[in-house]
Amino acid sequence: MIKVTNLRKSFNDLVVLNGIDLEVKDGEVLTIIGPSGSGKSTLIRCLNFLETPDAGIIEIGNAKLNVENCTRKEIRQLRSQTAMVFQNYNLYKNKTALENITESLIVVKKMPKKEANEIGMELLRQVGLEHKKDNYPATLSGGQQQRVSIARALALRPHAILFDEPTSSLDPELVSEVLQVIKSIAEMDTTMIIVTHEMDFAREVSDHVIFMADGNIVEQGSAKEFFSNPQKDRTKQFLKHLS
Ligand code: ATP
Ligand code: MG
Repeated sequence: MIKVTNLRKSFNDLVVLNGIDLEVKDGEVLTIIGPSGSGKSTLIRCLNFLETPDAGIIEIGNAKLNVENCTRKEIRQLRSQTAMVFQNYNLYKNKTALENITESLIVVKKMPKKEANEIGMELLRQVGLEHKKDNYPATLSGGQQQRVSIARALALRPHAILFDEPTSSLDPELVSEVLQVIKSIAEMDTTMIIVTHEMDFAREVSDHVIFMADGNIVEQGSAKEFFSNPQKDRTKQFLKHLS
């Protein structure tokens, strides 16, 4: 489970998260949508302290902390509960596809290389890239690089995976292969938060949707209710603008 209570973050006098509450049950997918600058990336980056939030309570898996009063150990524990998939893949350039995946198993889990490679190959298979195991990122397409980065996120079996616009750097023809992989992971009951501008995908894959604007949650609901019957004018405008 992910539970966030009254999360706040400002950059100087710009309030970016104005008291966010959300909950994601185990195995569920939450999608966050909203206009540029509304605080979506900041929100998910605060969940693993890539940005340090100012206030709030964050509970993920078996980690729970009060942002204003937490130890480094608690932050480490919180970070170990999630893996993040970024817009720009962020793969290690000097490591092969397989090495990108096994790195955390060998370094963090101190796993023997042989065992790590077996897990790595299984994950590559899961994202359809077994045949690219020895390729360096520069020799992979954007869609392939993103699939490796998804496999890497799965490697440590985190409680949840956080995606920040995983397809927005991709050429249009490569988007669907990545969305397909994310969907297949969702179907395996992986708990996920996804920031995306892909509305058809959001509708298909999400259990719940949050629409953010100016650091606030404007509207939230089940994917079905949210897309078929949005309540707030701001949400309606946003959805209309996209279609
Ligand atoms: P997009 O859809 O464009 O990715 P977003 O909803 O993810 O937008 P954020 O990246 O969370 O938006 O940014 C929210 C606000 O916080 C923006 O006004 C942005 O300029 C500001 N901001 C983000 N990071 C920083 C930072 N490190 N320092 C100062 N301001 C920042
Ligand atoms: Mg963003």
